[in-house]
Amino acid sequence: MTEQRVLVTGGTGYIGGELIDQLLKKGWAVNTTVRSKAKSESRLRNRWPDAGDRLQIFEADLMSDSGWAEANQGCTHVAHVASPFPMAVPSNADELIVPAREGTLRALRFAKDAGVTRFVQTSSAAAIAYGHGGAKTLFDQNDWTNLDAPNVAPYIQSKTVAERAARDWVLENAPEMEFCSVNPVAVLGPVENDDLSTSVEMIKMLMDGSVPLIPNMGIGVVDVRDVAKTHLLALEAPAETVNGERFPASQSFLWMADMAATLRQRVPEHAKKVPTGNMPDFLVKILALFMAEMKQVKGELGNLRDVDGSHTTKTLGFDYIPAEQSIEDTARSLVAHGIIKG
Ligand code: NAP
Repeated sequence: MTEQRVLVTGGTGYIGGELIDQLLKKGWAVNTTVRSKAKSESRLRNRWPDAGDRLQIFEADLMSDSGWAEANQGCTHVAHVASPFPMAVPSNADELIVPAREGTLRALRFAKDAGVTRFVQTSSAAAIAYGHGGAKTLFDQNDWTNLDAPNVAPYIQSKTVAERAARDWVLENAPEMEFCSVNPVAVLGPVENDDLSTSVEMIKMLMDGSVPLIPNMGIGVVDVRDVAKTHLLALEAPAETVNGERFPASQSFLWMADMAATLRQRVPEHAKKVPTGNMPDFLVKILALFMAEMKQVKGELGNLRDVDGSHTTKTLGFDYIPAEQSIEDTARSLVAHGIIKG
């Protein structure tokens, strides 16, 4: 096979890094974008010391045209992973929506100009499962987040708007380009460094004592290795298997209490600070008046929001790593990197 080159945007990220790793192991050549080469190039080179020219690193920001033409050069495929995913909720939703939407459209535009034939967008379960009230508890690739509902969080808006914008743009401007999205729930699994994705912060906070009681909330969980694998297979599968698809990546829904129990069972030696008591709902509501993190949690109290990821495994042909294993591997890697002490 002649070497194929793929652009992975956001090579410094949790998912982007794992995807680059799997692509290089499968023989792909990879271009990647970072916001600052000065900050990130040596970290990336140290992670893949043998990649040589098979890994090329370009500076490009979602909010500027600079660097995107160079980053796409020689690529037949794009995995557009980069998007803002901060821990804090911004006061102005546009801080997330604008880079998510503009960045996606910019990535698509430059990909088309470079002759890219397949584009895989990292969307999210955030574009599937929100704004439907508490009565609907099971979601799949056919569902869309309802942006007309009140109090849809800025990050959720940003991912929904970006996926819709991408699909509309492709239909109108590049119908010949093969396009699909990957829609993960909360991503866990081994970390490579101390620059933690927001999803991993959840496990860190359960382990480091910053959550004294467990709020009555839950979330879908999937392993970062499976999210990267979904992207890889979506890049490699025949066009008729992937074109237009949405691939939800979700192993199972877990309550926070289940996650805490898994940590106590599987990594007891590092679970001394993992909370055992439940936080009453009224306390979460009071704390939400004062603490930004609690504001996000408040709207999720008691909500079962399960995203069925079986369409993805059936279509692309693999099995998910069990969520309990992902939680254990997250915890052990946080300890191995010295992020959780003792
Ligand atoms: P992450 O580790 O925080 O990575 C985010 C990446 O996006 C980083 O490489 C970051 O670059 C880049 N980025 C952010 N703003 C940018 C900008 N203005 N210009 C250029 N690059 C920018 O998060 P992640 O978990 O890997 O998330 C990656 C993707 O997966 C995102 O699209 C996210 O929405 C999606 N996702 C994540 C989860 C999850 O639970 N982790 C679930 C569903 C979907 P810097 O290093 O320069 O900041």
